[in-house]
Amino acid sequence: MNKAKRAAVIAGNWKMNMTPSQTTAFMNELAPKVAGLDGCKIVLCVPFVDIAAAVEATKGTNIEIGAENVHMEAKGAYTGEISGAMLAECGVKYVIVGHSERRQYFAETDVTVNGRTKAGLANGLKVILCVGETLTEREQGVTYETVARQTKVALLGVSAEDLRNVIIAYEPVWAIGTGVTATSAQAEEVCGQIRGVIADLYGAEAAEAITIQYGGSMNAKNAAELLSMENIDGGLIGGASLKSDDFTVIVKAAQ
Ligand code: PEP
Repeated sequence: MNKAKRAAVIAGNWKMNMTPSQTTAFMNELAPKVAGLDGCKIVLCVPFVDIAAAVEATKGTNIEIGAENVHMEAKGAYTGEISGAMLAECGVKYVIVGHSERRQYFAETDVTVNGRTKAGLANGLKVILCVGETLTEREQGVTYETVARQTKVALLGVSAEDLRNVIIAYEPVWAIGTGVTATSAQAEEVCGQIRGVIADLYGAEAAEAITIQYGGSMNAKNAAELLSMENIDGGLIGGASLKSDDFTVIVKAAQ
């Protein structure tokens, strides 16, 4: 299978931005701009409190809604957390797990990311699994070891069948929200290495089929070049997903 046969996914990550009323206004603005652009999946991952507004405003459009995290347990005494069943019932189709901001500020580890990955999959969600090295790790020459470990631990206990609902987002930490983008060659190299890890774990066919995104200061200007690379099947986009015009340019670049 080559790149043309893999599902391209352009996903926004709103982080802690937008209120419900702002969400409705944004979706109403974006929907006509991306209507008919069916060459990629279009996803917006929004804060939990914006999900209802986002799902309602995107009914009948080609935009799907995701969440920014999911708890590993089905229910119980986990104040402040949200379960996969809660998300699924609200109309959420995708969930991000392992974002570097979760790892950095909320003490998430490879092991908790594994639990959250399995919880998303168990509830029928497509999981966008984020991996990526810090600047120190890149400078120390352990980028491959880092993303390989993160990928392997996150996927422990995930069956080949469930892997079909996993998207991997390669997000070098030094490129997230910094305006510094990995070069297309750097991004391509690591996305190719991650595909190799999947081949080792699940075989060549699964590796060829899995969608691997790049994320890290992807914007309207650099998206086309990054998305033209053989192993980059889409993008996870933070800042530029908050502007409907910029996000539309990125969606068009993925057609
Ligand atoms: C992200 O939040 O996953 C991200 C890539 O952010 P930004 O595009 O702003 O760097």
